[in-house]
Amino acid sequence: MLSEEKKTHIETQSLGVLKRFFGYDSFRPQQQEIITAVCSGRDCEVLMPTGGGKSICYQVPALVLPGVCIVVSPLIALMNDQVMNLQSCGIPAASLHSNQTEAENIEIIHRLMRSEVKILYVSPERLMLEIENWVGKIDVSLFAIDEAHCISQWGHDFRPEYTQLHRIKELFPSVPVIALTATADKLTRADIIEQLRLKNPAVFISSFDRPNLYLSVRQSPQKAKKLNQICEIIDRYPDDCGIIYCISRKSTEQMAADLTERGYSVGMYHAGLGAAVRSRAQEDFIHGRIQVMVATLAFGMGIDKSNIRYVIHNNMPRNIEGYYQEIGRAGRDGLPAETVMFYSFSDVATLKHFIAEGEREQVNMEKLTRMIDYAESGVCRRRVLLSYFSEPCDSDCGHCDNCINPPQRIDGTIIAQKALSAILRTGEQVGVYLLIDILRGSAKAEIITKGYDRLKTYGAGRDLDSPAWRAYLSQMLQIGLIEVAYDDGNKLKITEAGRDVVFGKQKVTFSKFFPEQHKKSSKTKDNPKQRAEGNVDDKLFQELRRLRADMAKIQSVPAFVIFDNKTLTDMCIKRPKTREQFLQVNGVGEMKAERYWTHFTRLIRQFEEKN
Ligand code: ADP
Ligand code: ZN
Repeated sequence: MLSEEKKTHIETQSLGVLKRFFGYDSFRPQQQEIITAVCSGRDCEVLMPTGGGKSICYQVPALVLPGVCIVVSPLIALMNDQVMNLQSCGIPAASLHSNQTEAENIEIIHRLMRSEVKILYVSPERLMLEIENWVGKIDVSLFAIDEAHCISQWGHDFRPEYTQLHRIKELFPSVPVIALTATADKLTRADIIEQLRLKNPAVFISSFDRPNLYLSVRQSPQKAKKLNQICEIIDRYPDDCGIIYCISRKSTEQMAADLTERGYSVGMYHAGLGAAVRSRAQEDFIHGRIQVMVATLAFGMGIDKSNIRYVIHNNMPRNIEGYYQEIGRAGRDGLPAETVMFYSFSDVATLKHFIAEGEREQVNMEKLTRMIDYAESGVCRRRVLLSYFSEPCDSDCGHCDNCINPPQRIDGTIIAQKALSAILRTGEQVGVYLLIDILRGSAKAEIITKGYDRLKTYGAGRDLDSPAWRAYLSQMLQIGLIEVAYDDGNKLKITEAGRDVVFGKQKVTFSKFFPEQHKKSSKTKDNPKQRAEGNVDDKLFQELRRLRADMAKIQSVPAFVIFDNKTLTDMCIKRPKTREQFLQVNGVGEMKAERYWTHFTRLIRQFEEKN
C-alpha cells in the first residue's frame, strides 16, 4: 500500500515535470492516478480514447523515475515525430527501429548504455532482438506498451510481432509495465493483461466520450451527389484540414483524382504506394501543405495533428473500434469537429467479402454486424458508441444527427410488402438496384428482357424515389426481413420474418426517410471557429499561426512541434508580454519559453499597438 506521504511526493514531482517540460498546469482526468500507480511500481492497463493524453501517462513517470523508459510501438513511421516533439521540450529521447541506419541504431544503444536517454521508442521486433543483452546493463525504469490491443487475437488489429512481449516480464520481473490502448473491448482488455503477464494491474478505463465530435451517418447517394456533399463539407473549412477514408486503393485513387480535378489540395495514402511516397504524404499533411488527405484505413495511426476539423468515411469501416479510432483523429485540440460516415449496401457486400477471405472470420463478422447496427441506428449515436465500449451513458448527447433530427417513426408495412412481394415474384433473383428499378417501373433493358415489366408489382413503388427505397430496403435488411446472398451475386432473399410480413401476420415500423436531412443537420452545426473558447481574436490567431509556420520552416519541423493550436488560442486570450507571462500559457514549458518567448511576445505587443 502506498503511504500518503509517498503519494503526495509523487504527485508534487509529477506536476512539476508536467509544467516544466510540457507547460501544462494540470493533469487531465485519470492521468495523475495512472502516473502515481506507475511511479510506485505497479503494472497498469490504460484504456483511453485517441487524444485523451495517453503519452503523458508514461512520459511523466519516465522523467520522475531514475533510468530509461522503453516505449514499444508498432508505428515506426511516427517515432521520429514523437522523438522530435520530446526533444523540443528538452527531453532526451531517441528511437530504435529498422527505418534508420544500423550505425544510427548502434550509436543509440551506446547512448542507452551510458544512461543518456530518458525515453526510448522501439519497435517490438527490434526490442526482441536486443532485450536479452539489456538485462543487468540498462537501468530500465518502465516499459510502456503502446497500441497494446495489437497483442490480442480478439482485437481488431492483431500483430504477431506483439505476441513475444511476454519476454519483458520474464527478463525484467520487477520493472513496471504500462499497457495503453485506445480501442479494446472487454475480451481484448483481459487478453492484454494475460499476454503481457501483468501482475495485479491497476486498470484505468477513461470515458470514451468525445463531446466535441459531431457524429453523423448518411446513406450513400449516387456518386456525383456524394462528391458534392463531400465538397460541401470541405468548403465549410477553407482554412483547415480533414481526412477522407476510403475502402480500397482504387476508390482512394478515384476520390483523390475527383477532388484534385475540382481544385482541392489533396494528398493520397494507401498501402500500394512506396514507403517514401507514403511518408512524404503524411509529412505534407502534418505540415499543413495539403488540405485533404484521402486514405485507406492504414493512414493516421497515432498521428498527432491536433487541428483536423473533419473526418469523412467514404465507405463504412469494418468495425466500431476502427471507426472510433478514425473519427477520433478529428478535433484532438478539443475544439468542435465534424464526422460523417457514408455507407451503402455495396460497402457491406465488399466488407463481407474481405472478412470471408481473411482470418478469424467469426470474430470479424460479428464486429461488422455491430458496425451495421450503428450505421442503421435511429437513437443517439454517442450512446450506441459508448455502450459498445461498455460505458454507461444515461442521456442523449444532443450533438449527433439522430439527436438533432430524430428519426420519425412511420408504419412501413405497405412499403415492406411491396418490396417483399416484388422479390418473391422475381424468384429472389434480383439485387437491390434492380429491385428498385422494378418497383419504380423503370424501362431498363434488363427489366424488359427478363420480363419483369409484366410483374404485378412492376411500378408499384413509384411513389417513393430511389434514395427512399434504398433507405427502407436497408432498414428491412437491418430488422431481418431480407438477407443479401453475398455468395450469389448479392441477390435479395426473404427471411422467415419477411414472409410473415408479406402474408400480413406482422407489422413493420420504419424511421422516416428525409431527403433533406443532411442539409439541415449541417446547417445547425456552427462554425468551430466561432465556438472557440473565450475572446479569441482571429486576426491575432492568424498572425501567431504565421509566425509558428515561419519558425517551423526555419527549424524544419512540423508546426505542432513548436506549439499546437490550443496553445496559440491560449496565447490569444492571455496575450503574454513578458517571459514570465509567456510561461503561464498552456503548453509552454521551460525549454519552449526560452526558445520562443521573444518572438511571440514581440508579435503580440506589435499587434496590440496596431489595433
Ligand atoms: P493519445 O491518448 O491519443 O496518445 P496524446 O498523448 O497524443 O493522446 O495527447 C493528445 C494531446 O493532448 C497532445 O497534444 C497532448 O500534448 C495533450 N495533452 C495531454 N495531456 C495534457 C494535459 N494534462 N494538459 C493539456 N494538454 C494535454
Ligand atoms: Zn446524440
